[in-house]
Amino acid sequence: MVTIRGTTQLLGVIGYPIAHSLSPVMHNAAIAQLGVDGVYVPFPIAPENLQTAIAGLAAVGVQGFNVTIPHKQTIIPLLASMTPEAIAVGAVNTVWRTEEGWAGTNTDVLGFVAPLSDRPWAGKTAVVLGNGGAARAVVVGCAQLGMERICVVGRNADKLAAFLQSWQELPLAGVLSVHPWEELPSLLPAAQLVVNTTPIGMHPHPEQSPLSLTDFALLPQGAIAYDLIYTPRPTQFLNLASQTGAIALDGLEMLVQQGAAALERWLHRPVPVDTMRHALQHHLGLPS
Ligand code: NAP
Repeated sequence: MVTIRGTTQLLGVIGYPIAHSLSPVMHNAAIAQLGVDGVYVPFPIAPENLQTAIAGLAAVGVQGFNVTIPHKQTIIPLLASMTPEAIAVGAVNTVWRTEEGWAGTNTDVLGFVAPLSDRPWAGKTAVVLGNGGAARAVVVGCAQLGMERICVVGRNADKLAAFLQSWQELPLAGVLSVHPWEELPSLLPAAQLVVNTTPIGMHPHPEQSPLSLTDFALLPQGAIAYDLIYTPRPTQFLNLASQTGAIALDGLEMLVQQGAAALERWLHRPVPVDTMRHALQHHLGLPS
């Protein structure tokens, strides 16, 4: 239990809507475990109130906050500084106070990379399904891992072209390519990693998967199938991947690790990642 005192420091998450956010569950579990005099609360902030709200959060002494839909990009002009990761992704999910004003980073990149960083990726190929916000963090993560090829697959040619054009800050020429869905059969045989960044397989259609058994059968031996979705667990995408012998990774660890990185940033100390993971699993009714 977090106890509120006169000295309690405020952390939180801004978004709209925000009631669905899982962040308060995992952050408050860690805060209680550490015995820190703080609390993490949801702030529902409508888009038209963003600027006023950010000034208000500064005025009432909020130490830091996470940022979720729809503010991840619109908050950028309101920040005094950004980390190279946030600049590369073009979106911010973690903000903290500095003397100059609010500073922002993107911990989704670190969260995505965390479960992959125990093996070498230099010279390898990744296939990324989808070209939305999460795909941007995945591309930056794959580049950080040293992937030789990052193939982004999407259903809308205009959005794919815009995605390819949007990387001013990262030297991705010759590494990043975009492809229509029909090209998957020629991409998968070279892919040591295939990442689902689409919402296909989420509630209310848990029976759906962006790839079929036939697609998974094209992957080389030892390939990893990584679904950013964390519930249902496993997704149909990961069910099918396992049936063909691929290694299955879901999005829960990314969620936990991006949260842990944010909390470390605010508290300037190591945080209990296991406590955060267990709190989420318990809340979602998932097996540990
Ligand atoms: P987003 O910006 O809306 O992007 C979704 C992408 O999926 C878009 O490229 C969209 O295509 C594509 N897509 C949607 N439905 C499709 C369909 N039926 N067929 C083919 N493509 C389809 O969403 P996001 O913020 O990137 O989030 C995507 C997923 O990642 C969500 O499930 C989210 O929960 C998950 N996520 C997980 C974590 C984590 O910590 N584990 C973090 C972030 C996101 P168009 O561009 O053509 O519309």
